[in-house]
Amino acid sequence: MSHKEEIPRCPYCATGREFRPMKVLENGRQICESCGHIVFPRDRAFWCPCEKCLAAPLNGKSEGWVAPGPEAIVYLADKGIRCVATDGPTLGGAEPRRALMTYWALGSKGMVGVEYLTNLGKLPEKTYFLFAAVKIRNCHGGPGRALALYWQKDVAGAD
Ligand SMILES: [Zn+2]
Ligand SMILES: [Zn+2]
Repeated sequence: MSHKEEIPRCPYCATGREFRPMKVLENGRQICESCGHIVFPRDRAFWCPCEKCLAAPLNGKSEGWVAPGPEAIVYLADKGIRCVATDGPTLGGAEPRRALMTYWALGSKGMVGVEYLTNLGKLPEKTYFLFAAVKIRNCHGGPGRALALYWQKDVAGAD
C-alpha cells in the first residue's frame, strides 16, 4: 500500500480533507466501517445494501450522485457522442423529474446509456467502449458485460 491511490476509499464518508479508507476483507470485499457501503470488485453485479449510495439519496435524506442533466446529453449528442456511461448508480440521478428528462433526451437523440460501472476514469484516452447487453424480450434495459479495448504499449512491444 505504498501508493495512496491503491487504498479503496468510501465515496460517501470524508475524514478531514480525504475520503475515508475502506477495510479490505480476505474475499476482496471493501467495506466502509462508518456507513456500511460495500464494494465487491470481483462481482460487478454486487448490489450494495448500505443506505448511503442509493436509499438515502432516493428518499431525499442526502445529496444524490453526480449525473448528467438533459442539457449535457443534448450537448454530447450534438458532438456526435452515441453512448454515455457512468460509474454512478444511474445517469438520471436522484431527482425523478430530472432523471426522466435525462432519459428522454437520451432516447430522443437515439443514444445509449450505461450505468453502475466501475473505474471508468482509469481508462486511457481513445478507448473503445462496448457493452454486451443480455437480450430480454420487451425490455428497454438490462444487465450486460462492459468491455474496454485500448492499446497498451508494453504488452504489444511497440509504441
Ligand atoms: Zn462510508
Ligand atoms: Zn453503498
